[in-house]
Amino acid sequence: MTKKIFWKDPYLTQLDSHITSVKDTDITLEETIFFAFSGGQESDSGIIGNSRVLQARTEGREIVYTLENGHGLKPGDQVSMEIDWERRYKLMRLHFAAEIVLELVYQKFGSIRKVGAHIAQDKARIDFEWDENVSKVLPDIQKEALRIIDANQEIISAFSDEEKEKRYWEIRGFAKVPCGGTHLKRTGEIGEIELKRKNPGKGKERIEIYVRENFG
Ligand SMILES: [Zn+2]
Repeated sequence: MTKKIFWKDPYLTQLDSHITSVKDTDITLEETIFFAFSGGQESDSGIIGNSRVLQARTEGREIVYTLENGHGLKPGDQVSMEIDWERRYKLMRLHFAAEIVLELVYQKFGSIRKVGAHIAQDKARIDFEWDENVSKVLPDIQKEALRIIDANQEIISAFSDEEKEKRYWEIRGFAKVPCGGTHLKRTGEIGEIELKRKNPGKGKERIEIYVRENFG
């Protein structure tokens, strides 16, 4: 089972590890900093050995990386990996912005149901089952989110069950929130955010979250 160093240190951009299995272009590693799509957060991009990673996917608790043809790696090989930090940091900022927005929506409208979420490099989105137009509440939520960001609160990320790889995050004023994504150390790192409404269809409302490009 790959040891997920991206949880212990989500700011690590380079790591040496060993190959544990190879099947054609698919490989697994002893340890990894390379996040694979889960919980709505997109995979990292980057290099393992001399190959670009074409796809990263979770299989149970294992992470399988698809490399380019002719990667030349075999089990036991030492290998170095590097992730695209600009992309990862943007994903982390948007991810935590989305976490805060979601918790604020739950705090204000307890009965609203989340039906989807996606964190990409340019924006995050959260979809809700919601009969009313979300535009009315967005300025309030944005203001409240910015207050939490400006307060630069510490974000605690830890295991709730290390054996089962269950993680949570916590900041002052919120209950523990289960999540296996990569989290920032402090809310201030998010920077300025902007919320927009999209209406994806009847009975659904979408909140899109953007972070300012020229921050940090
Ligand atoms: Zn999270």
